[in-house]
Amino acid sequence: MIEGKIGSGNRQIGDRFKYLKKSISEYSKIKEEIKTGLMDSDRIQKQKNKIMEYLGATDGQWDDYKWQMKNRFTDEESIGAILGLDEEEKIKIKRVGERYRYAVSPYYLSLIDPGNDMCPIKRQAIPSIMELDDKGELDPMDEEGWSPVELVTRRYPDRLIIKVTNICGMYCRFCQRRRMIGECDSHETKEKIAGAIRYVKDNAEIRDVLITGGDAFLLSDSTIEWLLKELRKIRHVEIIRFGSRTPVTLPQRITDELVSILKKYHPVYVNTHFNHPMEISCESKAACEKLADAGIPLGNQMVLLKGINNNKFVVRKLNQSLLAIRVKPYYIFHPKTVRGTSHFWVSFETGMEIIESLRGRTSGLAIPTYIVNGANGLGKTPLLPNYLLYIGRDKAVLRNWDGVIFSSENKR
Ligand SMILES: *Cc1c(COP(=O)(O)O)cnc(C)c1O
Repeated sequence: MIEGKIGSGNRQIGDRFKYLKKSISEYSKIKEEIKTGLMDSDRIQKQKNKIMEYLGATDGQWDDYKWQMKNRFTDEESIGAILGLDEEEKIKIKRVGERYRYAVSPYYLSLIDPGNDMCPIKRQAIPSIMELDDKGELDPMDEEGWSPVELVTRRYPDRLIIKVTNICGMYCRFCQRRRMIGECDSHETKEKIAGAIRYVKDNAEIRDVLITGGDAFLLSDSTIEWLLKELRKIRHVEIIRFGSRTPVTLPQRITDELVSILKKYHPVYVNTHFNHPMEISCESKAACEKLADAGIPLGNQMVLLKGINNNKFVVRKLNQSLLAIRVKPYYIFHPKTVRGTSHFWVSFETGMEIIESLRGRTSGLAIPTYIVNGANGLGKTPLLPNYLLYIGRDKAVLRNWDGVIFSSENKR
């Protein structure tokens, strides 16, 4: 029984489809303006040529992730040369860099639009003077306090994470683990990683092991293979997951060799981290498709960030574009109160508006769970729009995606 006054459900059949068409018209227009990297590939190609010329690089070098890592941009002069920054901007980058390290792969730098001050890629990669704001904490999740042995964070009964490195292809300006990035790149030693594996082995209820960092895929192929082999010796480990932003920031890392290693140890899952449609380029698409072709289910963990994706249409476009490259939107994280990231913080209302705007208006597959991490390690807590308005002994009152209120018998 339909009791609501608005929405599509209680219209005449002929009007229903007109209503549906009309309700998507605003997005249909805006969608063309929110560019993906694929839509903007000519501009990106031009920047790529400029960077290659600056570095004297060949195509072969560009496609080699080790070259990309070695040639990460880490000083204000070279970034300034590529992006055309003035002296004042360069001084600001230098000042922030003295407190928080930065490094951008040539590839990720090529996605930045130098003509756009608000570029969502630039905001993620290039230090901002606002990072010197002192609000927030270094470790709001109290990861140290939830660590039974070195490298391991365990907050849940049946799964845990192992942080195997502090290296990344790019140091995101909103990083939740800024405290670990420190002064220099370092992988954890094999001994320490072996200690974490021993913890998994000694705790038979752990059935899901998540390898992260830093960026898990910045370990060498041989270390990744060793790690997988060791974990697969443990009977109670059912699934292995990797957390890696390399498909987004360093897609060259997803080589045929890496993929052929991963697929030997199935079931292996990869969660990656796209935050904006502009990150979906020819190269990141190819990286995701390579992983998907190897039978690896791909998920995306987006962080809600002011000035990057705090907009319902940007998120809709991102999630639809991710499905097109076979990546399933998995989580949207509410930004954590990490020190040096306060200019990215958004309100819960913003997050709720975004998550509510997706249901019904796009594929269920494009709808992730919106998560806030409880302070001090209370864990992932979903924030859900309220669709259940009343629940009584015999009936419940609900609201559909379109605002139509209806009742449903409560059979028992
Ligand atoms: C996020 C996280 C996990 C994985 O959580 P899922 O909801 O299963 O994806 C596991 N352990 C820790 C410590 C985490 O922070």
